[in-house]
Amino acid sequence: MKYCPNCRAEYLDEIKICADCDIELVDSLIDAEEITESDLTLIYQCDQLYKAQLIKANLESANIESFILSQKDSNYPSVGDLAIIKLFVKNEDAETALEFINNSEQADFDFEEE
Ligand SMILES: [Zn+2]
Repeated sequence: MKYCPNCRAEYLDEIKICADCDIELVDSLIDAEEITESDLTLIYQCDQLYKAQLIKANLESANIESFILSQKDSNYPSVGDLAIIKLFVKNEDAETALEFINNSEQADFDFEEE
């Protein structure tokens, strides 16, 4: 099956473009349930999407594929907009990715102090 990453509709393998969204279909959708049971490792968690995107970009520059998952934190229903941003990588990339994050966070702190 193919899936639309936007509306999550399912399509036959022959279909390449979502009829509704006009975007390219993907082989699988990543959602929270799949990730906990799959071969992905959670390497970073924050509440700001841009931080996760920054790290994702850094990882990509090191040829490490990463996946951002954003979900509302249902533990705090009274805080309307609080979202948990999670960054996952494949298990085999986790160690390298974590080192990368530690280095880049260190760099962030250095930058802010100057
Ligand atoms: Zn769609």
